[in-house]
Amino acid sequence: MPQPLPRRRSAAVKELSKRQQRGSATERGYDHVWRRVSLRHRQLFPFCIWCRQVGRLEFAKLVDHKIPIVDGGAMFDPANRWGLCVMHHGVKGEMERFARKTGQLEWLPVWCDDPAARPP
Ligand SMILES: [Zn+2]
Repeated sequence: MPQPLPRRRSAAVKELSKRQQRGSATERGYDHVWRRVSLRHRQLFPFCIWCRQVGRLEFAKLVDHKIPIVDGGAMFDPANRWGLCVMHHGVKGEMERFARKTGQLEWLPVWCDDPAARPP
């Protein structure tokens, strides 16, 4: 007799669920004020800082918080933000997960500013 297939959630459903837990960008504080600050930051500093650190020139597509808001970073402190390209924003996300897992969140600004200090 045929057995029912085990129920597995698709990747799309998992992603949707993760987004629901996380809340929308607006729910997380990224409102019209933040959008204006982000735009102004990119007007003043149009290039990805990480790319500049490795000798490349790429436009910053978004403004990232060195210490994420969810981890207590200051939303509007200019010292807590830097412009990144999409690729480096992804790499920064990996660095954040590593910092959370190893209890080193306070090192994120150092790792952002000094490529030589970053974990391998
Ligand atoms: Zn970059």
